[in-house]
Amino acid sequence: MDKKIEKQLTARTVELGKSGDAAVVDELLKLSDCSAFHVKRLAVSALGKLAGKVDSKKVIPVLLARIRDCHAQVRQYAIKALAAYGTDSESALHDLRDIADNPTEKDYNRRDAKKAIEIIEGAIRIKNEKMKKYCQKCNAVIDGDEYSRSMKAFQRPYCDKCFDEVYLSRRNYDTKVELNKNIRANDGTFVQSDGELKIADWLTARKIKYRYDERIRIIDNYAIRPDYYLSEFDVYIEYWGMDTIDYKIGMLKKLKLYQQQGKKLISLYPEDKNNLDIILKSKLSKYIRLT
Ligand SMILES: [Zn+2]
Repeated sequence: MDKKIEKQLTARTVELGKSGDAAVVDELLKLSDCSAFHVKRLAVSALGKLAGKVDSKKVIPVLLARIRDCHAQVRQYAIKALAAYGTDSESALHDLRDIADNPTEKDYNRRDAKKAIEIIEGAIRIKNEKMKKYCQKCNAVIDGDEYSRSMKAFQRPYCDKCFDEVYLSRRNYDTKVELNKNIRANDGTFVQSDGELKIADWLTARKIKYRYDERIRIIDNYAIRPDYYLSEFDVYIEYWGMDTIDYKIGMLKKLKLYQQQGKKLISLYPEDKNNLDIILKSKLSKYIRLT
């Protein structure tokens, strides 16, 4: 595809995703079949965010096709989107189980498929067994679809009213993160900056497994998103790349959380970029025996 057209389509998809408007669903459905990977990925993600507002009969068949997509990240967004559709995604359970059990699938997709299965099954149980779930903010009783939409977005149950209150800022933040992930590391992971790229490639070159930019629950009810998590060693790496006040406040909060929980954290900064090999090696060797 022509670079200029691709850029236009990407911008358009971001705009549609941000609007959260049910009326844009048909355009998003079309874009989710676009030949440009980034457009497809963003469109699928945006479709997940319209759960509860649009006719799921139109959307779910498209998402089912996208969980078979050749790009792992498109599959990931489709898996997450299906979770948001709750009971309506019952027909996807089979395929999701296949993904969760598939040893050749990416770890993050297997894990997200498992999560999606839990959320969809949870929503079905609430519906069928009249199980009571409560909003964690206002304590109102919530139904299965409120449950799945909110579990997918926040990993905690909120009623629709509380969901809308907290959702707008989060949705814009997520879109920004998704959009910025367009630098491809050697192992195929898409990252956000030159510094993050260097860290990813450094880890890959040393065959150190990592999860990038995943939301990991550290404290009950408080989820934080570390940049890198080295699961074999239980070590977190944060690349503190930005310099705004808001960002710094977030950074201090995050650092405190790591500390309180006694987590093994390595902090890296833009000025470390050019000496990454020496700095990362020395910081990591506190926790890992490096060869
Ligand atoms: Zn509520």
